[in-house]
Order: sequence, then structure tokens, then C-alpha cells
Amino acid sequence: MNASRQGRRRLVVIGGDAAGMSAASQARRLRSAEELEIIAFERGRFTSYSACGIPYWVSGTVPEGKALVARSPEEHRAREIDVRLRTEVVELDPAGGRVRSRDHASGTETWTGYDDLVIATGARPERPPLPGMDAPGVYGVQTLDDGQALLDGLHHAPGRRAVVVGAGYIGLEMAEALLKRGYEVTVVNRSDAPMSTLDPDMGRLVHKAMTGMGIRVRNDEEVTGIRTGDDGRARAVVTEDAEYPADIVVLGIGVRPETSLAREAGLPLGEHGGLRTDLAMRVRGHDNVWAGGDCVEVLDLVGGRERHIALGTHANKQGQVIGTNVGGGYATFPGVVGTAVSKICDLEIARTGLREKDARAVGRQYVTATIESTNRAGYYPEAGRMTVKMLAERRTGRLLGTQIVGREGSAKRVDIAAVALTAGLTVEQMTALDLGYAPPFSPVWDPILVAARKAVRAVQERTG
Ligand SMILES: Cc1cc2nc3c(=O)[nH]c(=O)nc-3n(C[C@H](O)[C@H](O)[C@H](O)COP(=O)(O)OP(=O)(O)OC[C@H]3O[C@@H](n4cnc5c(N)ncnc54)[C@H](O)[C@@H]3O)c2cc1C
Repeated sequence: MNASRQGRRRLVVIGGDAAGMSAASQARRLRSAEELEIIAFERGRFTSYSACGIPYWVSGTVPEGKALVARSPEEHRAREIDVRLRTEVVELDPAGGRVRSRDHASGTETWTGYDDLVIATGARPERPPLPGMDAPGVYGVQTLDDGQALLDGLHHAPGRRAVVVGAGYIGLEMAEALLKRGYEVTVVNRSDAPMSTLDPDMGRLVHKAMTGMGIRVRNDEEVTGIRTGDDGRARAVVTEDAEYPADIVVLGIGVRPETSLAREAGLPLGEHGGLRTDLAMRVRGHDNVWAGGDCVEVLDLVGGRERHIALGTHANKQGQVIGTNVGGGYATFPGVVGTAVSKICDLEIARTGLREKDARAVGRQYVTATIESTNRAGYYPEAGRMTVKMLAERRTGRLLGTQIVGREGSAKRVDIAAVALTAGLTVEQMTALDLGYAPPFSPVWDPILVAARKAVRAVQERTG
């Protein structure tokens, strides 16, 4: 089926958030409504919302949920993007160039033809099929509706004990939010340290700091279910070893690409379940089907492998690349170096590139250097600790990865390492970087430079 009418092409977008609406908005910037009709299907009630802000809304730092909506459906419609809310796409027909959607309010199903299709269906939070996982009192935090449900749940919680399942960045951000709301917080984690995107030695620093904040952290514990009371509400999180009483349970145990429709339609998926695209974000083997955001796999430029990394920063960029290409321009998304930042209370956490286990998995021989420094000049008020770990390739001395745990101003320093990775710098080249210095911002030798110098020595020792 050809959707074009009187020379006007039609773009259909599935998913009304970061990737989908970035694609739609960019295509609209390049093509007028006379040239390109844009229809965006969104099964929820919001468009262009920031899930990233949910922890700060739950904590009360951001007072209102509506602040997290960057562009409402009305604003998109004013730019002639036909947003259809509460309308779920239930089938893809790439051969016929059409999608089948269901309007949640009326139950009506409709086929819509397209010239170009953007799949931006995001990711699905993990919810293992364990007893009690769907009980009242157990919350996910993927959508604004989830955030509102959790806030309502906090008002009605019978007590002040919260258990967070998962110690990735979302689990940690939610632990902070609940602590700020006055809850006694336990974090149950199946890895040997929080933040498994770091090496365990750096994760242990996070664990120690969390304990100092009054959070109980339980590592190496697999949740086996949620115990419920006579009223059906969650009462405790149960693991193989123990039971943790809970008035509120928050799940932060990771996500998987939401690609069930794509799978049923026979579109190519990678080993992590995400759609496979080329550099222009076109689904492999399908000229007019594009995909971006949490539903795709990305090329890890340092490790040289496809990975699934669910981050808003990638989703927005990939959406813009798609919109440019659909709009008749040319853009590519080359891949990522794996940069991520987060925080829990006043502790900042950052990583980019390979961990030790990643380097081993791709056969890169490496040296490590870990240094202790401060985020400001040591004599300056409120100077706090900052630990930097660097991995450099043995012999070549090329930077392979950097992890940072420290106080205010620590995390975004990882961007220096992200640029160095992108540029393929050696740690020796990094020691000569002209980084800014003044006492309120850093010691005269920035911790990144100190780590690079130590890494240079480690490379020399292994080479000499
Ligand atoms: C609590 C939390 C904190 C986060 N913090 C950060 C952070 O600090 N930094 C960062 O970079 N990232 C962060 N993220 C991740 C970031 O929010 C996601 O990577 C980003 O939203 C992905 O955008 P997306 O458009 O690919 O998918 P999504 O935002 O998931 O949007 C997909 C949309 O598609 C809709 N949809 C799915 N299937 C269909 C269908 N069949 N029909 C119609 N509509 C459909 C969904 O309803 C959804 O609105 C965070 C996420 C969470 C949950």
C-alpha cells in the first residue's frame, strides 16, 4: 500500500517520547505539512516526557510532574504533527507498508499506511514472574503514570519502610528519593556491589557511601518473591537468605528493548533483543523503516560490539538522525563510548568505556590506575573526595575506560574521558590536556590528569 497522496508523503511514528518525537520534530523542521504528513501513535497519555526526572519528582525536588513534559501533545499538534494518544500499534506489516492501531477509548482498530515508519517503542522494565510482583504496594518507575502511582502510594503507605530492588542507577536514584521522603531504605541487589556498570572495587565505594547515608545495602541476594498480607498488599521482599519488611517496594531491575511487534513482523533483532539498524538508523534490510532509542542496539565504539544501552541521551540523538534522513537530509549515529552519570544524595557516579570485565571479554590487554584526589583545591571549603579509575591498553597506552566516584563536580569530569575515548587518545596525550583550574573547581592537577599520569606509569611498567 502506498500512503502518498497528491505528492505528499506520510511518516508514521510509533512511540511519542524521546526518540519518536525527536524524529517527528526534526522531520517537520525540514519538511512542511504540505510535503510530509506526520502521524505519531502513543499508547500512553503524554508525549516528550522525561522519565529521567521521575526520581526527582518523587523526591519532591521537582514539585510537579507536568514540569517533566518537554512538549505536550497540543504543542506537537500546533506544529502539524498528528499525535494520537491512548492509541497502541498492535501489528506491523512492513511488506504492505502499514500498521494496525487500537484506540484504547473506543476499542476501534484501524490500518494506517506509511511511506516511512519510525519504530521508537522504548524499553520494557523487567518484572520477573515471581509471587507477589504485581501486588499493590509494588511500583515500577518507567512512565509518568508510574511516578504518579508511586507518589499516591507513598501517601497511603501503612509505614515508613521502603525496599528498592536493584542497585543500578535507577535503584539508587529511587533510594535517594525515598530517603528524602523520610523512609527507612533497604536496597536489595543481586550483584556483589551496587552499580554493576562499574568495576566492583568502584562499586564498593558506592556501597560504603550509601551505608554512611543510612541506607541498608544487601548484595549477592536474589529476590524470590514479595510476601503479601491478608489484604493482598506487599509486606516484605523475600530473598533466598532473608526477608525485608516493606511498606513500599520499588523495582529498578533493568529493562529490555520493547520489540515484540518488530519480532512478530520479522524485523532483524540483535543478540540483546534490540532492533538492528545501520548508521543512518534504518532497520537493516528495510529501506523505509527506521528505529531509534531504547528499542535498538548500538555499536560500542570502544569494545567493537553491539550492546543495548537504554539512555535518553542516545534516544534524542538517534531520533534527530532519523528525522534528518526522513526529511531528505543526511545524518548518521556512529555509536557510543558508554558514558553515563548519576548520583545518590551527594555522591556522584560516572563511567565511560570499558570495565575490566569488558576489556577481558573483547580480548584487550590493559593496565589500571586508581587515584584518590579532591573535587576542589584541598584547602577550599567543602572540598570532597574523588576517586578516579582508568583503564589503558597495555603497550599502546590508549585510554579504554574511566570510572569516577566522588562528591559534587566529580561526575561530569567523565566527559573529558568520553572525548578522549572518541578521539582515540593515549593516557600520555591526556596528561597534556589543557583543563581549566581554579581552587573552587579542582586541585591544580585535575584528578583526571593525576589518573592519566598514573596510568602512563602503569603502561610503562608493563611495556618496559
Ligand atoms: C527513572 C528513570 C530515570 C532515567 N534517567 C536517565 C538519565 O538520567 N539519563 C539518561 O540518559 N537516561 C535516563 N533514563 C532513560 C531514558 O528515560 C530512556 O532512555 C528514554 O526515555 C528512551 O526514549 P525512547 O523514546 O527510546 O523510549 P521511551 O521513553 O520508553 O518511549 C517509548 C514510548 O513508546 C510508547 N509505545 C511503546 N509501544 C507502543 C505501541 N505499540 N504503540 C504506541 N506507543 C507505544 C510508550 O508508551 C512510550 O511512551 C531514565 C529512565 C528512567 C525510567
